Amino acid sequence: MVMQGETISTGAPDVCPNCGKKVKLEIVMSPAGFYIGTMCKCGPYSRESGYYKTRELAELALLTNFYHRWRRWRWKLQEIFTIG
Ligand SMILES: [Zn+2]
Repeated sequence: MVMQGETISTGAPDVCPNCGKKVKLEIVMSPAGFYIGTMCKCGPYSRESGYYKTRELAELALLTNFYHRWRRWRWKLQEIFTIG
């Protein structure tokens, strides 16, 4: 797992120093919600986004790359999602 607050998009290595797995972005489920992040053999590796209430919202954010600005766009995604 990377340091608290560190993400691959801000320069953390995309290979886990503990297990050597090269990680890729995926939707990760946690008790707090769904997020865009990475998993390695050790478990959750990094969190690249905020938390989303549903997997669909997280997938939409990943598809649109909005997650980089999740603080700004989160409301928009929720609006789109609830209208739909
Ligand atoms: Zn690992």
